[in-house]
Amino acid sequence: AQPDVPALEGTGIVKHFGGVHALDGVDVRIMPGTVHGIIGPNGSGKSTLVSCLTRYHKIDAGTVKVFGEEAAATAHGVARAGVTRVFQVPHLFERVSVLDNVLTGMRTRESYSWLGAVLRSPSYRRQDEVERKEALELLAFAGLASRADWLASSLSHGQKRLLEVVRAVASRPKVLILDEPATGLTTGELDALARLCRALRERGLAVVLIEHNVDFVMNLCDEITVLESGKVIEQGNPERVRNSAAVLEAYLGR
Ligand code: ADP
Ligand code: MG
Repeated sequence: AQPDVPALEGTGIVKHFGGVHALDGVDVRIMPGTVHGIIGPNGSGKSTLVSCLTRYHKIDAGTVKVFGEEAAATAHGVARAGVTRVFQVPHLFERVSVLDNVLTGMRTRESYSWLGAVLRSPSYRRQDEVERKEALELLAFAGLASRADWLASSLSHGQKRLLEVVRAVASRPKVLILDEPATGLTTGELDALARLCRALRERGLAVVLIEHNVDFVMNLCDEITVLESGKVIEQGNPERVRNSAAVLEAYLGR
C-alpha cells in the first residue's frame, strides 16, 4: 500500500438509529503506520463510527474507502483487505491454552491450509514450528509468555483483553481496530498494550484506538479524532487536541 493512501477513509458519514443521530456527517482518514485515537464522551458515536467504517452497519449517507477503493468497501471486502476489529467483550476460547488461542488467530490467515494441517506433511510440521515460535514471540511482547500453557480461562481480566489483541495481531491485519482495550488493565498491562501498538505502527499497520482513557490516547496516538454527539469537534495531533477549547468543554461540560 502507498503510504499516502488512507487505510480507511470515511467522508460525510451519517448514521441514524430511529430518531437518534448517532453520526451526523463525520469525516475521518486513518493512515497506515499511525495509531489513530477516537475519543469522546459516552454515546458520542465512537463505536458506531467504527461499525460504519467496517460496514458492519449500513450507512445512511457518505462514503467509505478501504485503501483508496470505494468498491472494495463492503463488509466482506473490508475484512479481506485486512481490517480486523477487537470488540469490547473478549471472545476467547476459554478452555484451551493461551498459546492455542494465538495459533487459532494465525489459522484465520488465508494462506493457511487446513488440509495440509490435517495430512501433517513434513512441510506443515515445519510451518507449525514457525507459527509456534511467532506466537510465543507475540505473547512475550504482551507480557504473557509465562502464561502460554495456561488455560485462557485462568487469566485475569486484563490478561484476557491483551490475549484478545495478540490473537488479532496473529492474523496479520493491515488495520487493527481496538474498542476500549485499556479498560480494566493494570499499569503493567497498559505498558504492554502500548508497546504492542507501537511495534505494529513501526511495521506500517494502522491501529485505531477507541478509548476512554484519554491519557493513554494522548501518549500513544499520532492523530486523534474527537467526537461529540455524532460530530467531529476536533481532529489532529495530541498537542492540538490537548489545547482545544471545544474538547475541554465537551469533557467538562458534563
Ligand atoms: P460510544 O461508542 O461513543 O459510546 P455509540 O457509538 O455506542 O457511542 O453510540 C452512539 C449513539 O447511538 C448512542 O446514543 C447510542 O445509544 C446509539 N446507538 C448505538 N448503537 C445503537 C443501536 N444498535 N441501536 C440503537 N441505538 C444505538
Ligand atoms: Mg463504544
